[in-house]
Amino acid sequence: MPLIYAFDHRHRKPPMELKDLLGGKGANLAEMSSVLELPVPPGFTITTAACVTYMDEGWPPGLDQEVERHLAKLEKKMGSVLGDTEDPLLLSVRSGAKFSMPGMMDTVLNLGLNDRTVRAFAKANDDEGFAYRSYARLLSMYGRVVLGASAEPFDEALDEARVAAGVDDEAALGADAWKALCKQYKATIRSATGKPFPQDPHVQLRAAIEAVFRSWNGARAIAYREQEGIDHRLGTAVNVQAMVFGNRDDRSGTGVAFTRNAATGENVPYGDFLLNAQGEDVVAGVRITKPLDALADDFPDLHAELLGHMHELEAHYRDMLDLEFTIDQGKLWMLQVRVGKRTGPAALRMAVEMTTDRHIKLTRAEAVGRVKPDQLDQVLHPRLVDHDHTVVAKGLAASPGAAVGVVVFSADDAVERARSGDSVILVRKETNPDDVHGMLAATGLLTTRGGLVSHAAVVARGWGKPAVVGADAVKIHGRSFTVGDVTVEEGDTISIDGTSGEVALGAATLTAPEPSPEFDTLLSWADALRRGKLAVRANADNAEDAANALRFGAEGIGLCRTEHMFLRADRLPIVQQMILADTDEDEAAALDELRRVQHQDFVEILEVMDGLPVLVRLLDPPLHEFLPHVEDLDLKEAAGTLTDEEKRLRAAAEDWAEANPMLGIRGVRLAVMKPGLYGMQVRALLDAVRDRVQAGGKPIVEVMIPLTVSREEMELARSWVIAAAEELGVTSTLLIGTMIETPRAAVVADQLARVSDFFSFGTNDLTQMTFGFSRDDVEAKMMPRYVQQGLLPGDPFASIDTDGVGALVRIAVEKARAVKRRLPIGVCGEHGGDPDSIAFFRSAGLDYVSCSPFRVPVARLAAAQACIADG
Ligand code: PEP
Ligand code: MG
Repeated sequence: MPLIYAFDHRHRKPPMELKDLLGGKGANLAEMSSVLELPVPPGFTITTAACVTYMDEGWPPGLDQEVERHLAKLEKKMGSVLGDTEDPLLLSVRSGAKFSMPGMMDTVLNLGLNDRTVRAFAKANDDEGFAYRSYARLLSMYGRVVLGASAEPFDEALDEARVAAGVDDEAALGADAWKALCKQYKATIRSATGKPFPQDPHVQLRAAIEAVFRSWNGARAIAYREQEGIDHRLGTAVNVQAMVFGNRDDRSGTGVAFTRNAATGENVPYGDFLLNAQGEDVVAGVRITKPLDALADDFPDLHAELLGHMHELEAHYRDMLDLEFTIDQGKLWMLQVRVGKRTGPAALRMAVEMTTDRHIKLTRAEAVGRVKPDQLDQVLHPRLVDHDHTVVAKGLAASPGAAVGVVVFSADDAVERARSGDSVILVRKETNPDDVHGMLAATGLLTTRGGLVSHAAVVARGWGKPAVVGADAVKIHGRSFTVGDVTVEEGDTISIDGTSGEVALGAATLTAPEPSPEFDTLLSWADALRRGKLAVRANADNAEDAANALRFGAEGIGLCRTEHMFLRADRLPIVQQMILADTDEDEAAALDELRRVQHQDFVEILEVMDGLPVLVRLLDPPLHEFLPHVEDLDLKEAAGTLTDEEKRLRAAAEDWAEANPMLGIRGVRLAVMKPGLYGMQVRALLDAVRDRVQAGGKPIVEVMIPLTVSREEMELARSWVIAAAEELGVTSTLLIGTMIETPRAAVVADQLARVSDFFSFGTNDLTQMTFGFSRDDVEAKMMPRYVQQGLLPGDPFASIDTDGVGALVRIAVEKARAVKRRLPIGVCGEHGGDPDSIAFFRSAGLDYVSCSPFRVPVARLAAAQACIADG
């Protein structure tokens, strides 16, 4: 298989579908060149397969010959030759992985310049300053990227040259200054690496390609892939392309554009451009850019041509695109196109609007597939409450959501303060890939320069972190910033709103988010696509949670943990009375009192959820959770303040203490020890049902027994529920089911199914017991190390472990359905709100997932996407 493809190679498949092989950038350059025939500077792509070979075995055999062959073709096409001393061809060498990794890998521009070709280049352009500036750029990029020299001496020399010439902008430096800089840069390379800058352009090319391969495994790239969950084995492609120059003169320029607004989704092209500049100048946010519309003033024809290409590209890709263009002496070139990153609100708006756009005509299923569950989550982000804060500056609203935190000015400080538990706002002039670890640690980002396409904006949007960029009224001075006469020191608290661009002093109050109309539209389509296939319920233990669940579209309650009713301050003493009871009469009295208070809770929940199923789980946790800590009582005893009642409580706490509480007397075992307990809960529930029916409601309840591991246990628990129902004269069928929370329950699911009306997987405990990982101890401390060292692909408490826990789920479903074909089965562990886990549950044949109320919209979308993928 070839290691290289020219951009205009006629592939058998649309090149945009060949991202595995050509990388994203290469695939899209090929699509624009070979399919759409847009003006793209010619070039070729060295495949990701070549990079993988390089990583495994070193330089791929035959690659040199293929490079020379493609180079010869490129030279022919361009009518100029690499290294020619009359009219030299210059090249760019850029990375391009399957998944976009903005700024994480390396690039070399102006390759082909040397001490001789620079003179020819100057002559051809009739501009010595431009030629030596280009050479200086190559020398500094090559020195840093290919030869590994540090950036500082290059930057310092440039700063000194600017100061000496008395200019702010490097573009104002004259030819002599650039010539002197080239000399200095070559000396820097020699002293840093012990070798001269290679004058042979073919040597330059091979080394630049190798440097790009190498940069796949650079520290920045690895950290980014870990954050984004990108496979380390994919490798990057390398794109070698004829240079065009946006910085040749005032008839040149460069820009970045989105076919629609990436922050709001509005169907209006958006972009930034700079006259007489190269692409890096726009993205770095160092110079103040002009909006795309202003291009019409400088280059009306090219503006129209560009909008035409953008329109054609959007209709072809059927999605919002992000593209880079360059104007080289009045000619427009398309340098890159890719599907654009977008905010959650923008993703929603575009997906919905593209269904009625006659050039795009997305189907509803496609629209639902276009919004990532996490983007939907962003729409649910908070905002700053109006009038409740002092706005001191306004920047660009780069990534939605509001954040409150203490100000820090460096990425390392962000990491440090976040580690000590602070919520942090990272304030920078602009960010670059070296800041990524700090951006990750920060709660929000504020930059004083840069636009919506700057590094800070793109990265923050990708991660759903609130960000305000380009707030140019904010002036940073070391470890403080000023806005007018206000000074904010490091460690002071500020608030930012990435949806409005506001920067406010102090800790502002945050509002509940307000989803857009598209939010409801898209979710209604999602619901239609999953209806009858995978339902979404919520875990809610009180009327308020239930109301939230309903507001977010839950189709019932999938888990009401009744212990949460017991833990309320006014209930705890009654539970303690039950535990302390010496006689059957005392215990019965305490249970009666509990029945009375629980009854009211059930009435309220059933009222909110009228007509929808409410699954009530009978008491689950070990009894010592309702008792004070022995150590606290010991302290009181030492101080001589222990009351008689507390003495009894301590005796009970000692009595019920367990070395391994998660494996002790909890769940159904508890009810075996306290036989009146479950009967009391069922009576309270059925009393509430009766009251709701009398009030004209339609209560639907399901009773769930936790932690059963055998048929005998379940049969016993079932008999208590039935006895209570019969005693109250409830004749309608009451569904009585069990949780599958232990490996044994999963394996004997057929036996349990015979005595159960439904199952619900408690994947929190099932994960704990399958791995033998304590759910309360290992996650924060141990899991990051496990994941970093590749011992686990991810945290199994966050996303289902399909190999182990998932295998048990499949076994249980299969065995249970072999006994009862239509047994309803759901999941109520935390995994019920995780999109990847939801896809798994769908494939395993579950009927519903249940998650926290605020996660319900995400689960509705993820469930629909799982159903679409399943066909
Ligand atoms: C579970 O174990 O997954 C579950 C839902 O129960 P709990 O988290 O209450 O133990
Ligand atoms: Mg559990």
